[in-house]
This record gives sequence, structure tokens and C-alpha cells, in this order.
Amino acid sequence: MKQPAAQAVHLADYAPPPWLVDEVHLVFRLSPQATRVLSRIRFRPNPATEDRTFRLDGDGPRLVRCAVDGAEAAPEVREAGLTLTPPDRPFLFEAEVEIDPEANTALSGLYMSNGMFCTQCEAQGFRRITFYPDRPDVMAPFTVRIESDLPVLLSNGNPGAAGKGFAEWHDPHPKPAYLFALVAGDLVPQRDTFVTSDGRAVDLAVWTRPGPDEGRCAFAIKSLKTAMRWDEAAYDLAYDLDVFNIVAVDDFNMGAMENKGLNVFNSSVVLASPATATDDQFAVIEAVVAHEYFHNWTGNRVTCRDWFQLCLKEGLTVFRDQQFSEDVRSAAVERIRQALAMRGQFREDAGPLAHPVRPESYVAVDNFYTATVYEKGAELVRMLKSIVGDEGYRDALRLYFARHDGQAVTIEDWLQVFRDATGTVPEHFGRWYSQAGTPRVTAEEEWEPKESGGGTYTLRLAQETPPTPGQPCKAPMPIPVRTGLLGADGSELVEERVLLLEEAAGEWTFDLPERPVPSLLRGFSAPVILRREADDAERAFLLANDPDPFARWEAGRRLATRLLCRMAGGARADDALPQALRALATDDAPDPAFRALCLALPSEDDVAQALHDDGAAPDPDAVHAAREALRLAVSKAMEDVLPGLRGAMRVTAPYRPDAEQSGRRALWGAALGYEALLDAAPAQAAYCEATNLTEEIAALSALLAAGHGAAEAEDFRERWSDERLVLDRWFSLQVRFAAPEKAAGTAEALARRPEFDLRNPNRFRAVFGALAGNHAGFHNASGAGYDTMADWLLKLDALNPQAAARMSTTFETWRRFDPDRQARAGAALDRILAAKDLSPDLREMAGRIRD
Ligand code: ZN
Repeated sequence: MKQPAAQAVHLADYAPPPWLVDEVHLVFRLSPQATRVLSRIRFRPNPATEDRTFRLDGDGPRLVRCAVDGAEAAPEVREAGLTLTPPDRPFLFEAEVEIDPEANTALSGLYMSNGMFCTQCEAQGFRRITFYPDRPDVMAPFTVRIESDLPVLLSNGNPGAAGKGFAEWHDPHPKPAYLFALVAGDLVPQRDTFVTSDGRAVDLAVWTRPGPDEGRCAFAIKSLKTAMRWDEAAYDLAYDLDVFNIVAVDDFNMGAMENKGLNVFNSSVVLASPATATDDQFAVIEAVVAHEYFHNWTGNRVTCRDWFQLCLKEGLTVFRDQQFSEDVRSAAVERIRQALAMRGQFREDAGPLAHPVRPESYVAVDNFYTATVYEKGAELVRMLKSIVGDEGYRDALRLYFARHDGQAVTIEDWLQVFRDATGTVPEHFGRWYSQAGTPRVTAEEEWEPKESGGGTYTLRLAQETPPTPGQPCKAPMPIPVRTGLLGADGSELVEERVLLLEEAAGEWTFDLPERPVPSLLRGFSAPVILRREADDAERAFLLANDPDPFARWEAGRRLATRLLCRMAGGARADDALPQALRALATDDAPDPAFRALCLALPSEDDVAQALHDDGAAPDPDAVHAAREALRLAVSKAMEDVLPGLRGAMRVTAPYRPDAEQSGRRALWGAALGYEALLDAAPAQAAYCEATNLTEEIAALSALLAAGHGAAEAEDFRERWSDERLVLDRWFSLQVRFAAPEKAAGTAEALARRPEFDLRNPNRFRAVFGALAGNHAGFHNASGAGYDTMADWLLKLDALNPQAAARMSTTFETWRRFDPDRQARAGAALDRILAAKDLSPDLREMAGRIRD
């Protein structure tokens, strides 16, 4: 595939569009290899600029015919687009182009998936369909006519005329081209209706291929209705069209896409039944359905001026879906999950790919759909809310929609809304958007006893953000540190407070009856790394006593991480952590889901990152051995309580994927996993008796992680060979639990199986995402992990550059390791960079990682 020359785009170079669009009319004559697209676009000069250059983006469409105000025109068509000399007034542009959906393996633009036509236009896919000003600050109402013999023809907005071989759609809400969508195929709907708070009936439908998938939409529909109701109650935002359609597609680069009125979903995040999806997948479906729905206001009605502002829609929409999950599930457990997702962002921030939440330049914008933009972007919204308070946040958001509905705006506009509505946002909050890197907050304390009893407690906080690529020096940022002070009996000595660290250092004093144990950064109140000279005894105290569940979990996490770091350096497991976990496992008070999260040890990658933070080069084999040894030590310490815990948590009621049942199954699975290290029989029995996929996968994982399970894995593959999504799990488990020296070979062998399909991103991720997740396997001293990954990234790149570029981030930590490993990883990256016909997407990523 020929790509245009790769050039960096800079935020500083933004210029308004010379031409605006009043109306778009599209006709699609669908044909797998030769689809014709006829466009009629009404352009008008943008009064905000003198520039009258007329240039339309185009990446691949073959121009058949073109007219300006009805007269044939002869534009200049080059690789990146079309130019012509426009009239000096509003005019009608018409074009007919031809495209080849079947040859489109990049899954961007119009492509085929299992006989169905499907589009993906974010970020720059529309230009692969036809010539257009493909930038988010050009918004227009779209009318679409689809001509095809396929039974179901869908596009954005409300349905219009339809008949044999055609259907028309009209979307009255002006939108950027990246929100355009079209789907056509032999599809069946699962229908429902929703009545909005203002009394309008909305027809809802989830569309799948005919067959078993039809019966797997109920949970998505239920989630959609819950999300629609929630957005009305929490944000006073109601839906604004007569229909809302969701389509499940098997071949999709990302999770899902918020196209106006026609969301397109990777089938893995919409289809679910108890037998074919695990509890975690149900939870993801609920969150993703909500996320895409919430985009209708945060993204679609108010959109981004340019792609540098991506966090404006993504950070805010992730924050909204987090709030939703906290409301409909357990807030404490959700917050811990979010913090775990932020570890991936910390890893990004600590390596060569570090970039600000609002980046300043890019080559391929698709490479910026990152943990930093999404997860850290959401944390910034959360901090804003904690700084201005709940009411301030509500006022600011109300003003945001009132002021910017129908507009394409920037982070400056967003922050201005907070200043205007609340007046309390520190001027330098904007640095959170422009500075990359994770701030380190150090806490120091002093205790001065008073003769009369009690004393004065002084807490000093200081911040520092390490350099990141292109940003050697950082200025202080406002950091809200939610703080509690605990007495020796675990009680709160003062009311919890948010200490706002605005400058490089700050100091707070408290008069207290006794010297407190501080509980800092409760609720993960800022995306920072807290540095504090705490000893294990204090961490164990917080793990046992902190009333804030996040801080409690975090204390256990720190305890485990420190221990694993020591063990990787040769120390033996001590008994403090296993005993603390034992106490927690048998304490009936905390939510089972919370206990399950506490029982999970930090990943090998987390331990490697902690060692790296301490200035050491992690040895993946030693980290792996340490973690295995600690798992065994925990199992032994809990041996006598595991069967009882498993029995108590066993769910016998009919399956429900809600927080309560999933939490019990999670703790049941954790107990089974530890037990399997000592005795395989319970997990073998559990595998045979499983009544849903959650139990089945938990049992199979427990066996594989303990070095058993070959027969069960074979049975699993045979039973699920016709179920693409379940089979993905099998592919993934094989690699995830392969012994380190066998991981690369296992991945290679799986990728050569007939069921492996390079065109299906889910399958690729199942195998090679799992290879990256097998830390000691991927970083095996032989270099086989790096070589295999590089080989397959190159194969994938030839078909699907975006997917290959995303997956290449598996290399981002390569500089952490010893010189030998670095040499091997560096050679693999060099091999990628030297490949001929490398895509600009993968070139940009591999280049940034290699630098
Ligand atoms: Zn999103």
C-alpha cells in the first residue's frame, strides 16, 4: 500500500479552514471491489480567514468526475488530495469517485468484514472514502443515500425514504467527517425503545450477523438504556435523534466508535452471554457502551478543533464512563481498577513514548490514541472536579454545553469555562495538559510533642517531574493530595482534607493528640508517584486499617512490590505480606471484589518498573522467579483457609454479571489460583463443573499458571473452535502462561495455525498482546521474544499499519534492561526500521521507541 510522505504536523501551525461546508449529500453505490461514491458538497468562504486556498483531503479514491456549480472541472489530484481554483463565493462541489472496499485491509475508510460493508473514519478515514476537508473543525449536516441489494443499509442520523435496493438517512446535527458511518449487510436487529426525559421515544437496535450472535445483545442494550438514563440524571443531557443503532463488527482496530447515531463496535466489546463472555468482559461492555453513548455530547455535539485536542473528548468521556461505572458498580473497586489502568500510563510516561496529554506534534495521529490521552486525560478532569468541587464542576459543565454546543473547541476553551463558572482554577493547571511525565511527590513529616500532651505534626510535600523526550525542564503543577491522619487504633484524628500542592513545595501543620500515620493520596487524588520513607510496618498498618479502600489497597500493593524487589535481588520471602493477605482473605467485612484485587500480586512488569524507578536494571528472570516464589509462599500461608474461602464464594444462583456476583467469582477464582499451586485437583474439578465462561477460564488459568492444564486447554479449544471470541481467549492463554523460554515459540506456532488470521486484529492481539504480557518470555535473554514480535509486526504492517503501530508499543520499556537485552531489542527495532515499504505509522512509533 502506497502511503503519502510522512511529515510532522504541529499544533502551533493551526490555521482555520479557508472553506466551510453548509451541506453534504452522499450517494453510495456499493460493490465489494468497485464502490462508487457521489458527493455534492456546498462550500462557503470562511469569514474568519482571508485564505481562499481550496484543497480537499483524499487518500486513495480514484476520481471519475468532478464539477463546480454544475460545470465540469479539472482539479489537480495528487497523493494527499485534490486542489482547484475555486470561485470567490459559495459554490457546489460535485465528485464521483471509485474505491475498493475488499482490498482495504487497513480497516480505515470503507472496508469489508465477513461480507458486510463497514466504515471507520476517525481519525482520518473519511479521506479514504472521498475527497473532503477531513478535519474536525469543518462540521456539516449529512444526507446519505445507500444503493445496494443487501437487506440492511444504515448510516448516521434519522432514517428517510427506503425501498428495494436503497435507503436514505439524514443527520441534522452538523458533524465532522470523522463521525460519518455507513454499514450494509445481512444483519439482524435486537430492538428496544427508550423514552427520553423530555418525552421523545427513541428506537434502539443492536445489529449482528444472523446466528448465535443474535442472542448475545441483551446486556449491551440494557447497558445502553442505563447509560442513557444516567446521562440525563447526572449531566442533564438527553439523546437527540429518533434512532440509536449499534453494529457489532468482527474486524475492528479499536474497541468501538461513537459515530453519530450509528456506533460501530468491535464484537468483543458488545456481544456477551454467560457461556461466551467472562464477568470482566461484561463489565467492559457496560463501560464501552456507556463511553460511546456519552460521546454523543462530549465529542459529537461539542467536538475537537483539531486532533491535538483529542483529550478534550476522550479524557472527558473516559471520566464520564468512570463516574458511570462507579455509580452502577462499586466505587471503591472501580477506582482501584482505574488506578491499575494508570500504571500503563506511568509506563508510557517513563519511556521514549512519553508525551503531553495534549501533544504538540505528530506524524500519524492514530498513534496518539494512548493511555496518556485517555486515562491521564480523565485524571485531569477528575482533579479539576476535586479542585472546584461538585457544584463548581456542575456549573462549569453546564456552561461548556451552553457555550460550545455545535462547535469544535480547544483545551483553552475548556479551561476557560471552569474559570468563568467557578473562578477557582489555578492559572497553571494548564501545565497538566502541556507537560509530559509523572510528577514525583515526596512527603516528609515532623512531630513535636507538647508538654501538655499531644503535639504538632508537620507534613511537607514537594514535587518534581523528571525530564521526558523534548521536555528537559518541568514547572510545578497544582496537585490535590487527599489526606487522612490516622491514630494508632486506626481512627481518623482529623477530618480528611485535600491539600493542594501548588508550588514546588508546601507545608501543612496540625495539632493532634498523638503522632499520626498519614494516609496520603487517598482515592488516587492525582496521577503522581508518591515517594515516602515508609516502612513495611506502616504499610501493613494501612493495609489493615485505612478507612479509604484505595489507600488500603495501595498500601498492600506497595508492601508486595517492595518485597518482590527485594526478592528479585536475592532476598527470601518474609512472612509479613502472606500473613496480611491471609488476614484480609478471611475478613468477611470488605467486599469480595476488593479482597480479590488485594490478593492479586503486582505484575512482573510493575515490579520491573519499580526496580527501574530505583535506578536498577530489572532482571526479568529474577523478577519472574521472585513472583512465582511469593505466590507459592502466599499459597502456603493460606493453605488451610483456601478451600473454605472458595466454598464460601462459590455462586450457585443463576448467573448475573453484576458487581456482586462478579466480585464473589473473582475471589473464588483467586482462591482457586493459589490452591492450584499446591494441589491441581480442585481446579481440575472446577473446570469440569464450570457453568459459565468466567469459572471455566478461571479454572483453566489456575491450572496453566501452576504448570498443569494441557488436557483441559485442548478440550477448551475443541469445544470452542466455532466461537471466534472465545477462541481468542485460548490463543491468549497459551502464550500468557507459556514458560519464559517457550513463549516466543508458542506465539510463533499459534500464528502459523490455520485459525490465525492476520486480518483480524483481535486474534493478533490475542497472541502477540499475550506475548508482551508474558514479561519474562518477551524479554527472554535469547532475544526470541523481540525477534518474533518484530517479524509479525512487519507482516501485520503490510496489511494494517495502524494495528501494527499500536502493537509496537510492546517495545517501549526496552531501555530498562541490561546491555545484552538492549542490544537484541535494539536490533529488532532496527530491523523494523530498515524494512522496505514500512508504513509511516509504524516508522513513527519504532523510530520514537528506538531513539
Ligand atoms: Zn472515546
